[in-house]
Amino acid sequence: MVRIVESGTEIYFLDKPEDISTHIEKCGRTCYKSENMITEETAVPFISGILKSGHESVIEHANVIFSLPDIEENRKILQMKDIRGLNISTEKDPNDDVMKIIVSGNMRALRDLARTYDVHDFLLTIGNPLFYIVAEGKRQFSDVTFESVQTSRFSAAHNYITTHSVCDVGAYKDITRHRLASFSIESTRFCNYAKGKFGSELTFIEPCNIEKGAEMYAYWSHCMEMIEQTYMKMAALGAKADQLRMLLPHSTKADMIMSANVPEWKHIFALRCHSAAHPSVQQVMKKMLQAFYQQWPSFFADEYKQFIGE
Ligand SMILES: Cc1cc2nc3c(=O)[nH]c(=O)nc-3n(C[C@H](O)[C@H](O)[C@H](O)COP(=O)(O)OP(=O)(O)OC[C@H]3O[C@@H](n4cnc5c(N)ncnc54)[C@H](O)[C@@H]3O)c2cc1C
Repeated sequence: MVRIVESGTEIYFLDKPEDISTHIEKCGRTCYKSENMITEETAVPFISGILKSGHESVIEHANVIFSLPDIEENRKILQMKDIRGLNISTEKDPNDDVMKIIVSGNMRALRDLARTYDVHDFLLTIGNPLFYIVAEGKRQFSDVTFESVQTSRFSAAHNYITTHSVCDVGAYKDITRHRLASFSIESTRFCNYAKGKFGSELTFIEPCNIEKGAEMYAYWSHCMEMIEQTYMKMAALGAKADQLRMLLPHSTKADMIMSANVPEWKHIFALRCHSAAHPSVQQVMKKMLQAFYQQWPSFFADEYKQFIGE
């Protein structure tokens, strides 16, 4: 029998640079639904494997913030804004009122910066050789200071949030259109739900726009049962996940990891909490907005007021 679950969302916090690898592993294993394999030793081989295979989007879920003195030697970083995922600004540090150059970006952007401009300062400052491009990278800047991971006291662009959501495939198809965000999603190519690991069942999201108990709901429910029966029968005939996934409808449950900085999150909420968005997208994005507002009210007060209420 099919399993029906509600959509939901939670924030994945990352507070210390020592936890970057374990955070990335937790996010990356969502694709394979292999979170149960995580131990204290698995992060390094997991990340080495994904970097070797070129599956680098997974390392976009960890963001690091740096400050540099605003001096001539350091201003050449302002010419390197073409690296996607890198944010650079000159702003006053609220701690000491001194103008500084603030550089932040995810681990992929920092590696691309090293590749493109031979700038290794930032990766070396974090100090995790797993992410180095070369063992002996050159430093080109003065007094690069590591500030924090994910969130910071600097402007909104230098604050990043990672979430884990459970939503339907229809919702994740819409949400993944947002190009300035990063995603890792449960793969219907790698996950064969006929296997015991998945309980030999399909999981669907409770539809929020079909009334439970109504005749229409009975049709939806019957259709999901038929899909599951067909999926299991084809699997018994030897069908692989690549073949089986062609049966899966928009209601299929997916785990989705998503990271973005605060301006992009605000843009996403403006479009996806709006009544013009699909109800299943609105549902999950409003839950997310509520969680963000509780954590960071100053960043998300306007969106909260507009879409959730006072
Ligand atoms: C109600 C609704 C209905 C929709 N219907 C459809 C539909 O029928 N068919 C369809 O295909 N899509 C549809 N979409 C998706 C929509 O077209 C966008 O792809 C999606 O919402 C991503 O938003 P975005 O482009 O504003 O921003 P993001 O991708 O989140 O990017 C953020 C901002 O970065 C800038 N940006 C990013 N990439 C580029 C770029 N390559 N060039 C220039 N600027 C860039 C833009 O300023 C953009 O606003 C719909 C979306 C909504 C909300």
